[in-house]
Amino acid sequence: MRSNFILQKNKPIPPTEKLGFGQYYTPYMYVRRYRNSRWEDHFITDYELLAVDPASQMLHYGQLIFEGMKAYYNKDQEKVYLFRPEENAKRYIRSAIRLCIPQLPVADFIDSIKSAVKFSGPYIPPYSKSNPTPASLYIRPFLMGTTPKLGVKPAQDYGHVVITSPSGPYFSSGLNPIKLKVEEEYIRAAPGGTGEAKCAGNYAASLLAAEIALKEGFDQVLWLDVERKYLQEVGAMNLFVVIDNVLVTPDLDGCILPGITRDAVIELGASHFKMSVEERHVSIHEVIEGIKNNKVTEIFGSGTAAVITPVGSLGYKGEHYTIGDGKIGPIAQKMYDTLLGIQYNELNIECAKDWIIEVQIDG
Ligand SMILES: *Cc1c(COP(=O)(O)O)cnc(C)c1O
Repeated sequence: MRSNFILQKNKPIPPTEKLGFGQYYTPYMYVRRYRNSRWEDHFITDYELLAVDPASQMLHYGQLIFEGMKAYYNKDQEKVYLFRPEENAKRYIRSAIRLCIPQLPVADFIDSIKSAVKFSGPYIPPYSKSNPTPASLYIRPFLMGTTPKLGVKPAQDYGHVVITSPSGPYFSSGLNPIKLKVEEEYIRAAPGGTGEAKCAGNYAASLLAAEIALKEGFDQVLWLDVERKYLQEVGAMNLFVVIDNVLVTPDLDGCILPGITRDAVIELGASHFKMSVEERHVSIHEVIEGIKNNKVTEIFGSGTAAVITPVGSLGYKGEHYTIGDGKIGPIAQKMYDTLLGIQYNELNIECAKDWIIEVQIDG
């Protein structure tokens, strides 16, 4: 294990186009422990193995939450920005509450992100907004229970760790449309469960369906609700469907992850594009019928890692349904351009004026 780790640490970071997603790591990390009912001072250390007791809570019962964010250079390579970090901080708190993990205050969370970006300075990919697959610094904070006790109880000790990874887009196809399989056997979340928390267990539970879909030639699965009737999301991104020129997205019913990109798309759709936007239950029946009679003209996903990812086709009950002409639609394209324009501080849009913050890095 150790040799593996050393190899990974010393992996030279390749050029922007070859980064992929989450494969290379900055050689430092941020660590802050929670012990004796309080948060201790943080420290920055080499990216290295975590010394974790084999009986740790998180290893057996999955008491672990995380976040996903990005930092990127502006065009003249002078400023580094974060997108709505306070929203990630608040979601970290909501996820923590759901898993009986102590809350990290919003200001402390943001400080930890700023520190991580600071020590990652030389590893932040150069400005590449106009590349087909733009790169940025992906930031992964996580918070886990480390107390060695095999009883199913919340841990007393925790670690908040931030690692960073120079990354390209989540889907290597960039803005090329993906193929989704509408999943009918397995589900991701049910009412009362942990669907709206960004907790590790949700993703472990999603792997099998995704592996099967991959073998069948799909890129990912589209999750339905417990009745296999209504759309939920895609597991790393939220979904939008354009129906009769209305931007429709599943409502936050506790079973989907409240994406920060989702929130931005809703806001931009309504305030900037002046579209009608509906947050409501969307049945798979409505979507399939809508594709058949051309009322559904676009489907796309939204997420920090996925940005805006167009969906070209759906597989449902063994049939394939191509959405529109199978290419990226005008709304997805415009949303992608607008979102990136805001994130790189190249557009001045009223509803988005507080969405980016600048972070200092060591020169
Ligand atoms: C993180 C995540 C998203 C996207 O959320 P953003 O805040 O937009 O990055 C969507 N679905 C799931 C399950 C996620 O974990």
